[in-house]
Amino acid sequence: MKTRINQLFFLVLFFLPANAQKDYTKYVMPIMGSQSEFSLSNGNLYPATALPWGMNYWSPQTATKNDDRWFYSYNRYYLTGIRQTHQPSPWTGDYGVFSLMPTVGKKNFLEEDRKSWFSHKAETSLPHYYKVYLADYNVTAEVTPTERSCMMRFTFPETNQANVVIDAFARASYIKVIPEENKVIGYSTDRFGYENQRVPSNFKNYFVIYFDKPIQNYSIWKEDALIKNEKETQGKRTGAIVSFSTKRGEAVQARISSSFISWEQADQNLKTEVAGRNFDEVCSESKEIWNKQLSRFSVENATLNDLDKVRTFYTCLYRLLLFPREFHELDAKGNIIHYSPYNGKVCPGRMYTDNGFWDTFRAVHPFFNLFYPTQSKYILEGLANTYKESGWLPEWAAPGHIDIMVGSNSTSVIASAYLNGVKDVDIKTLWEGIIKNAYNAHPTITSVGRAGAKEYDALGYVPNDIGVKESAARTLEYAYADYCIYKLAKELKKDNKTIETFAERSFNYKKLFYPKYNLMAGRNSKGDFRENFNPFSWGGDFTEGNSWHYSWCVFHDPAGLSELMGGQKKFVAMLDSVFILPPVFDESYYGQVIHEIREMQIMNFGQYAHGNQPIQHMTYLYDWAGQPWKTQYWTRQIMDRLYKPTPDGYCGDEDNGQTSAWYVFSALGFYPVSPVSGDYAIGSPLFPELVLTMENGRKLTLKALNNSDENVYIDNIDWDKKEYTKNFFTHSQLQKGGNILFQMIPKPNYRRGTKKDTFPYSFSDK
Ligand code: CA
Repeated sequence: MKTRINQLFFLVLFFLPANAQKDYTKYVMPIMGSQSEFSLSNGNLYPATALPWGMNYWSPQTATKNDDRWFYSYNRYYLTGIRQTHQPSPWTGDYGVFSLMPTVGKKNFLEEDRKSWFSHKAETSLPHYYKVYLADYNVTAEVTPTERSCMMRFTFPETNQANVVIDAFARASYIKVIPEENKVIGYSTDRFGYENQRVPSNFKNYFVIYFDKPIQNYSIWKEDALIKNEKETQGKRTGAIVSFSTKRGEAVQARISSSFISWEQADQNLKTEVAGRNFDEVCSESKEIWNKQLSRFSVENATLNDLDKVRTFYTCLYRLLLFPREFHELDAKGNIIHYSPYNGKVCPGRMYTDNGFWDTFRAVHPFFNLFYPTQSKYILEGLANTYKESGWLPEWAAPGHIDIMVGSNSTSVIASAYLNGVKDVDIKTLWEGIIKNAYNAHPTITSVGRAGAKEYDALGYVPNDIGVKESAARTLEYAYADYCIYKLAKELKKDNKTIETFAERSFNYKKLFYPKYNLMAGRNSKGDFRENFNPFSWGGDFTEGNSWHYSWCVFHDPAGLSELMGGQKKFVAMLDSVFILPPVFDESYYGQVIHEIREMQIMNFGQYAHGNQPIQHMTYLYDWAGQPWKTQYWTRQIMDRLYKPTPDGYCGDEDNGQTSAWYVFSALGFYPVSPVSGDYAIGSPLFPELVLTMENGRKLTLKALNNSDENVYIDNIDWDKKEYTKNFFTHSQLQKGGNILFQMIPKPNYRRGTKKDTFPYSFSDK
């Protein structure tokens, strides 16, 4: 019976006539991760209706206060609008926001007054399309996106008071109704959090809204009062209500666009993207754009048993292709220009933003390097522009520099792209930025440059008694960044002194190794390790993690780390311990159990904290230790138990594609532990077959024979029918395409991948 169901499902799901286009968007669940709150993150996501890397995203809003950073929560019953959002994470907040909300009858406009009951059963959420039934008004609202614009469609009942409330949000906003053109314009300057850092004082998000039906009457509002007989206003919080007369089931369409440059540019964006087209046309094009990307990662021969995995896979792929967002626009002549979130001027070229490299250097950017090298090139152009406009490379942009997280990870983003084939970039400027970052701290923003750079240069580590917090986390990430610089310096044929200096600094991770505990620990300027060192203590010398999480932060030299820990056997025992230890913790540094701690505690994975980024590569380190079957086992456990295509489906903050990139790579069967090396450690492929299309059109087919929930171990790998014995694939091999065949079995093959010459690269190897 099971087989018959599987066959039936196979027919429905994947066996389509050759000329019919497969629709992958129906497997994407944008609501995955949206059931989150301050104390517990199941993803901290909102259902973004957007195009890949688009400038503006559109999301329903359930918050009854505009500045609620959890503005869409799956647990809520009310809808208060559909907003244009740029929020990369609730922890960084949103900026330049405005929203539209259809209502009927009274001209209510504040969130509490305009809100409507809705049900998830009367809601459709897809990457390219969102639809919701607003019960209190008997109105259906829909939205479909382009890169910078969108179409909205509101289907009203019969009424002479069909309203659309436009909310330009707080801080300083502006609204103007131009009834003769059925048009509303305005700007929003709102931002929640980091308000004095993230944008220059002239920042504005200029929006334009055109309705396709005559505006019958209108009002504007300011703060909590309606203003009669006026067309425009500006102030702390402004908005408008435009009203129509509608027949039963009549749809009012709105074409909406915006610009960070001007209203003229917003009109230009609208003209390029949505003018002259109706809702359905825009929607089907947006769907096609998504399918073009998703179909490059085609799951084949899946069965009913795989449905959750297929949904999770395509949802993760969608998340992976959203950030960083474009911040540039196309002028009337087609030139690429951008408002600089650094100097406030309109500058030429590309700009990308809303990305924390502390998260995304790990797997998101390596994913682009492998599958989207042109996108990587564009992102590097944006980085060079950031350096030119602000004097620094960004570490966390939203849209300008914000002071959050640690490390010097822009270096990895640049070096991993350049060393893996993305050569057509302004490497001179980027190199200058990298070197400046390596030796200097930003005067005011501790996340930019290297806080503690002087001491790091002198001592080889950032001491924990100079007022630079999270010094051990910084040191470990700086040492890896130094390795990236070493590799880049060699590639660029820099002088020997530079090459040698950075080669030496790559080993700085050793300075924090505390033999007494066999783990990494912070040290003071005299060289003493922290008194009463507690490896279960979160924060302090580490960032959102403890020593058990950070001790693996030696991406470029697992062999060197293994040696420090006492050799291969000891190294494996330490890796095993992560899962064996109970999830105990000391939260005293924070004075509260931060959500990342709670997410580790409740998952039943011991000290393994997949809900945050520092440890996400750890399970792959068994590939360097001759026990690849443990990588295979644990990566499948994580895929099966910590990801679900449900509102509570992530095990912590998703973080701009990183936690999704882990899943996508792992489902493919390999992961970029050290992004610059070009080696991908082999895990356990999730599907019976995946056909990947590289950017140059070449195909890479990954087949896993006898793959199942039980058969997670690799017995053998063939590459183009030749036996492949290594524990890693290389970037250049994968880019060439070909056929990889995994033979899957229920018990470990204790002979495969146990010899040193099968291990991925370590810097100590040379
Ligand atoms: Ca995180």
